[in-house]
Amino acid sequence: LPGRGYRGRFAPSPTGPLHFGSLIAAVASFLDARVHGGEWLVRMEDVDTPRNVPGAADDILRTLEAFGFEWDGMVVHQSQRLGAYEEVLEGLKSVGLVYPCACSRKDIAALTTRQAVDGGLVYPGRCRSGLLLGETARAWRLRVDDREIAFDDRLQGRQVQHLADDVGDFVLRRADGLFAYQLAVIVDDHFQEITDVVRGADLLASTPRQIWLQRCLGYATPRYAHLPVATNPAGEKWSKQTLAPALPAAQAASEIVRALAFLGQPVTPELAGASVREVWAWALANWSFAAIPRCPALSAPAVPG
Ligand code: GLU
Repeated sequence: LPGRGYRGRFAPSPTGPLHFGSLIAAVASFLDARVHGGEWLVRMEDVDTPRNVPGAADDILRTLEAFGFEWDGMVVHQSQRLGAYEEVLEGLKSVGLVYPCACSRKDIAALTTRQAVDGGLVYPGRCRSGLLLGETARAWRLRVDDREIAFDDRLQGRQVQHLADDVGDFVLRRADGLFAYQLAVIVDDHFQEITDVVRGADLLASTPRQIWLQRCLGYATPRYAHLPVATNPAGEKWSKQTLAPALPAAQAASEIVRALAFLGQPVTPELAGASVREVWAWALANWSFAAIPRCPALSAPAVPG
């Protein structure tokens, strides 16, 4: 078990209000941190600026407060951390681990049909040994090597990926100049000294890339636990893209109970009328990590009537 040094985090992207899918990650990461006597940090992942919705970051923080979450320290905003990402990227360039890539999506599609783990195409490596005369860098890619990356997820078990076959060299700085999520998340987990990442299984396939990046940078790898992703009645991931409804602050207590039930916790009927404070007291006293279903996706329980 992690000792007193536990530091967990919740890292929402402000692309819309907090919804049931993100509440699950907030509840599980918060309770896992607190029962280990650890700290719980909140980081606003607003690095992908075109996807940010004005007001969403404040709305998420206000909703977390209304739901009775208490975080440690200041909220870190990725939009304030661009200098740190730049420095790390320059360091990787200087040792030749990152290289400029001139390929458009179309160029890549002309060279390969091989599907990557994230739904894109495995980068075929055209710019690995340098750009052709007259070409300019669109993106910057991190070299992967030919070994397998393996880790033991606390919920999903042993995971193995062969980055060269499953992803290829991947982008750290995009053609639009923005830093990629994979870079920002790893620089910030290190900066915030995160020991334990508890998040949705939609990010499970990204974790080997993140571990590779940690190794390239000499960073420690935290423990990972990937929670089942909540699906809606149509079987789709419960997300902003599927227009998951914003969480009603007036029903904070019953929504937390619903998240606990989704997480396999033995919620009792008496919790139905409980206050937010009572629900958290129950959850802290009864939290069982072992009860969390060990599957990548699960349909969400109905909204209590
Ligand atoms: N910002 C990501 C999201 O909202 C989560 C990243 C993470 O937990 O590593 O899906």
